[in-house]
Amino acid sequence: MLDVGTIAQWMLEWYPPTTAESWDRVGLIAGSRATPVTRVLLAIDPVEVVAEQAVQLGAQMLITHHPLYLRGTSFVSEDDAKGRFISGLIRTNTALLNAHTNADVASSGVGQALADLVGVADTVPMVPSSDDPSIGLGRIGRLSSPIRLRDFAIVVAGALPAGPNGILVGGDPDRMVSTVAVSGGSGDSFLELAGDLGADVYVTADLRHHPASEHLEDGGPALICGSHWATEWPWLPVLAGALEERAAAQGEQLEVVVSQICTEPWFEHLTTTGSTADLATVPSEGTRA
Ligand SMILES: [Zn+2]
Repeated sequence: MLDVGTIAQWMLEWYPPTTAESWDRVGLIAGSRATPVTRVLLAIDPVEVVAEQAVQLGAQMLITHHPLYLRGTSFVSEDDAKGRFISGLIRTNTALLNAHTNADVASSGVGQALADLVGVADTVPMVPSSDDPSIGLGRIGRLSSPIRLRDFAIVVAGALPAGPNGILVGGDPDRMVSTVAVSGGSGDSFLELAGDLGADVYVTADLRHHPASEHLEDGGPALICGSHWATEWPWLPVLAGALEERAAAQGEQLEVVVSQICTEPWFEHLTTTGSTADLATVPSEGTRA
């Protein structure tokens, strides 16, 4: 039977911790390597609803993308959400492992999964790793044929998992796009790079008003801003396939469940419809003092 240690070893081979950013925390967070595993749950965020799902499923191991304690902690009491999360897992003997920036850069990682999902081929990393240029952060490649930004946005919206954020699209809707840069999760820092690399459009998440606005004003690539969770989630089914394939190759039983719980902080998206004309209170000439 498989155990936590064996699966942790596979993850280490596919997503070596040495490829993670120096500030990151990746690996086995809780649990014993000797614990037998027949069922694994995969999720993006280490949050309580996901821990509850793992316990309900009887999964002996939970693998998340995001770290639980990136900056360390002195307390794991159940006074706060992270304490309840980790205590619940320990109490039920459920192991927790994460792969974060080491999964972002990998050849079958978060960036590649997003590129594949939105139809970007012939990809190379946006930021090649110095040790191995075939891996790295983000991906840039091309579509099978150029299409208008408005049409590509429809493709992206139809491919990303459903969530409250949807996507935001910036730039000329009739611009033809064929070279596409993608980076799952927060992508502000690669805005300029996407332009330098010759992208027509950059697909990412968490873009802020000023960086995005200034980027477009400067004539940079068009922007498609999805949500953090939705742009990283496409990696989970890829990982599930790899885990099940490896287990089958070793003649072991392993059920891998991908959590479909959307762990965005938001639950709904409403398009605002208030009228700027009604809201503007410009005093008329006659009433001005
Ligand atoms: Zn992330």
